Amino acid sequence: MAGFTHLFIPGPTNIPEQVRQAMNLPMEDMRASTFPELTLGLFAGLKRVFKNESGRVFIYPSSGTGAWESAMTNTLSPGDRVLMSRFGQFSHLWVDMAERLGLEVDVIDTEWGTGVPVEIYAERLAADKEHRIKAVFCTHNETATGVTSDVAGVRKGLDAANHPALLFVDGVSSIGSIDFRQDEWGVDCAVSGSQKGFMLPAGLGFLSVSQKALEAAKTAKGRRCYFSFDDMIRNNDNGFFPYTPATQLLRGLRVSLDLIEAEGLEAIFARHHHLAEGVRKAVDAWGLKLCAKERKWHSDTVSAIHVPEGIDSAEVVKRAYHKYQTSLGVGLNKVAGKVFRIGHLGWLNEVMVCGALSAAEMALRDCGVKLAPGSGVGAALEHFRLAGPVAVAKA
Ligand code: PLP
Repeated sequence: MAGFTHLFIPGPTNIPEQVRQAMNLPMEDMRASTFPELTLGLFAGLKRVFKNESGRVFIYPSSGTGAWESAMTNTLSPGDRVLMSRFGQFSHLWVDMAERLGLEVDVIDTEWGTGVPVEIYAERLAADKEHRIKAVFCTHNETATGVTSDVAGVRKGLDAANHPALLFVDGVSSIGSIDFRQDEWGVDCAVSGSQKGFMLPAGLGFLSVSQKALEAAKTAKGRRCYFSFDDMIRNNDNGFFPYTPATQLLRGLRVSLDLIEAEGLEAIFARHHHLAEGVRKAVDAWGLKLCAKERKWHSDTVSAIHVPEGIDSAEVVKRAYHKYQTSLGVGLNKVAGKVFRIGHLGWLNEVMVCGALSAAEMALRDCGVKLAPGSGVGAALEHFRLAGPVAVAKA
């Protein structure tokens, strides 16, 4: 078929041409004395994106899931009690990993479409006078339901209870795209991956840790080898890795960090909000509902959209792909067949988002959803036209 196939799943995201070109280069020697000129700058640049001045960042040749495993095995011990909440496929997978790694998981199940129950966390922490809870987990942006949670609120609960538990955040679909402040929010382990806000292929797992997490790693008994902080630190301090790093991805990361710095994090967050608002206007105009139950949960990086009863959302996604060359995200787990997702994060602009909305609108009508042609796309166009330029002027 002619023309582009359009990618609007919530990761992997579209890769800027400069980033793609930067990865198209011959293999290089990862033990060359010049290699640290690349890597030391990457560690520093990632720390700026995570807003982590005091700690350090690890880059693993893995996806985000590897960075999760690293966070848990390096800082916790089997049998440690951890507080988690589950309200979507990714928060579910985090619980599953913690259980398989032998942690004692205290799970709070909340309705899909809501997020981290900050008040319940605060109560549990206040009640835990003996400090048996060793870590508290927060899925910042639940990609399956398009829900963003209040990390700062979780920190407030910890502080109010004067509780020493570590704070873990899954920022795979948020960091670099929406507001995240590791130092200010007292996050000890923040996890992300290369294929979303960082606009790269999958293949790098990022783990940004506080000094407190590094301290915890000295006594934690979790079994680790490939992901060991110690091995990484010994090598990373000189700009090297304990094993073969993914050199092309690292070259791409250099350019994606440059693009992020050039646009500015605050401008990127504003752009994502602006684009997400356009999608939400379209959803309203279609007469459909987001999976996210309330405005406070709305994600600026992904929208999960409910289809009406009797319609299979997987058919909508198939139709968009086969007939209109556009990838939308399917519903996962409990919301399979019920929602489809539009990823609106990474390297994209208003007209690209209108492409996703056009394909979704046509596919919805093809599948029998009663909506006026052009209604959603028209609402988004007007929003984009009137809400003005995306770019926030850089001071
Ligand atoms: N956490 C969230 C919120 C995600 O969206 C994803 C992937 O989509 C993951 C974790 C897993 O990350 P990865 O697929 O990079 O291992």
